[in-house]
Amino acid sequence: EQDVAGYRKSMAIRVSGFDVPRPIKTFEDCSFSSQLKNAIAKQGYEKPTSIQCQALPIVLSGRDIIGIAKTGSGKTAAFVLPMIVHIMDQPELAKEEGPIGVICAPTRELAHQIYLECKKFSKLHGIRVSAVYGGMSKLDQFKELKAGCEIVVATPGRLIDLLKMKALTMLRATYLVLDEADRMFDLGFEPQIRSIVGQIRPDRQTLLFSATMPGRVEKLAREILSDPVRVTVGEVG
Ligand code: ADP
Ligand code: MG
Repeated sequence: EQDVAGYRKSMAIRVSGFDVPRPIKTFEDCSFSSQLKNAIAKQGYEKPTSIQCQALPIVLSGRDIIGIAKTGSGKTAAFVLPMIVHIMDQPELAKEEGPIGVICAPTRELAHQIYLECKKFSKLHGIRVSAVYGGMSKLDQFKELKAGCEIVVATPGRLIDLLKMKALTMLRATYLVLDEADRMFDLGFEPQIRSIVGQIRPDRQTLLFSATMPGRVEKLAREILSDPVRVTVGEVG
């Protein structure tokens, strides 16, 4: 029995935190819309991976999470699927008010991959996704953000640039994901991350994913997450 990317189903999972929601066994256990269930089936995702079984009910319940798991364990869907539910749960708001979901990733390649995963699940709900990272025209990205979006996937440096240019505001942002936090720190993005977090309302839901938890990432997690559940998959962390 294998998970995606060779993960064994029996691989150790450690969960810590107060009042942790019970893990799910199938995608049917989540209160997903039929569009979302169809999109999941269309991806060929038959069963949730280990981290998805633990993380989906935690994130769907509105809790903050620290997810520690290696590459290939299916972390992207673990934050993208609940984000779609989170956005669909929002009352109708003016479309110009900036993204609801904000995802930071260390590199343009990763940001682009996450963007593609978001698009798979956002399409049928009419949710707009923008990706902003270096190597693409800042002016084009400025215009795209000005037109409005519900989700922005970004590298921290480029997002800061566009915030300074007032291409977007964080007034509507309530769902923040820091993906591959350890790599973002390795690349020197700690100040940018802190600045972005500081611009998002404190009652947001915050999700932090990392393959490892060095001291500086641990410290950030303590500062910016509220009563998080920590999920560790495998021999990492
Ligand atoms: P991570 O972020 O943990 O490195 P990804 O989210 O990139 O992992 O997922 C790794 C691969 O597994 C991707 O190709 C993704 O499409 C696939 N995947 C994710 N969830 C499932 C699932 N439940 N069933 C099958 N494949 C999945
Ligand atoms: Mg990933």
